[in-house]
Amino acid sequence: MAGVYVHIPFCKQKCHYCDFHFSTNLSRQDEMVDAICQEIILRKEYLADNKIETIYFGGGTPSLLSQNQITKILNTISECFDTLNVEEITLEANPDDLSKDVLKAFYAAGVNRLSIGIQSFDEDVLQQMNRAHNSTEATESIRLAQQFGFSNLTADLIYGIPEKPLSYWKDQVQQMIDLGVKHISAYCLTIEQNTVFNHLENKGELNLPNDEESLEQFNYLVNTLAENGYEQYEISNFAKQGYISKHNSAYWQGKSYLGVGPSAHSYDGNSRSWNIRNNSQYIKSLQKSEIPLETEVLTFKDKFNDYVLTRLRTKWGLLKEDLPELLGAINHSEFSQIIESHISRGCLKETDQAYVLTPEGKFIADKLAADLFV
Ligand code: SF4
Repeated sequence: MAGVYVHIPFCKQKCHYCDFHFSTNLSRQDEMVDAICQEIILRKEYLADNKIETIYFGGGTPSLLSQNQITKILNTISECFDTLNVEEITLEANPDDLSKDVLKAFYAAGVNRLSIGIQSFDEDVLQQMNRAHNSTEATESIRLAQQFGFSNLTADLIYGIPEKPLSYWKDQVQQMIDLGVKHISAYCLTIEQNTVFNHLENKGELNLPNDEESLEQFNYLVNTLAENGYEQYEISNFAKQGYISKHNSAYWQGKSYLGVGPSAHSYDGNSRSWNIRNNSQYIKSLQKSEIPLETEVLTFKDKFNDYVLTRLRTKWGLLKEDLPELLGAINHSEFSQIIESHISRGCLKETDQAYVLTPEGKFIADKLAADLFV
């Protein structure tokens, strides 16, 4: 079974670290929702068995949508796919959007999981990042969402913030634990091209922590969340029992998904496609019933590399039962040797079923995956 990802390409303002696709011109939301619905209809044959288990509204800022707009998209999905087994409908939300009325509307529309973009509880850091919310809204949005039935919620935090020591990070993690959040995603700040942080860094005005300091913050996160009953099921994702994200887990396990909306990506097991990153052109194309996307058919090497990159980051690791078929299709004579060398360095461990990262390996996961690429 598969999932549907809906990209909502609007934000109130641009965060200083972000390179996602969105527009701050909110005037075309209705047209965008119509275009997204049209894309869903045109691509209703995309998923082989037509059955879906998860729906994910990402962005951008999906919490800018009204109840009617969410309902319209969900109804279109139900008309085009078998949604009998849908267990999880997630919507990404920014804290400043989450009033009582908005939460009630999301719940009524069928959303049963919220992903709240907290990033930090610290007023200065929120301003430095140019987030739209303040520190009070960060805390209150979580409390309010829990009161209004969203016990299944996840919240994001960013570590590796300029000029912020370990003591800052300890306080952030503790606040999240104290709020009883069941799922936490934590990412190291990365400096993307053409962002405000990128310009500041180029001028020498961004004093980022070094690798050792970032590693210290990451290790603190992993150990503290483990002590508090969270399982690290993917490098950046931690969940209490029963709260693992079904949508993201399916993606990491290589299941198919249809992505609709500008810049959304799709995967059907044999090819990947990606939609145009331009709101006006996206709307214009769909008004003519044309889907503005490009497609790449995956080679056996692409499939192997994708498998390694996504699976290695998870607690499930590289499954021994999957490897003969994947390796049989490519010439990768050094695979066993590379695996052995990482096991002897303490970065990988072998279990009965799989090769999985050790705590040391988790901090260099992408480099380790690149070593295994063909
Ligand atoms: S709200 Fe999210 S998508 Fe929008 S600019 Fe900020 S980080 Fe990027």
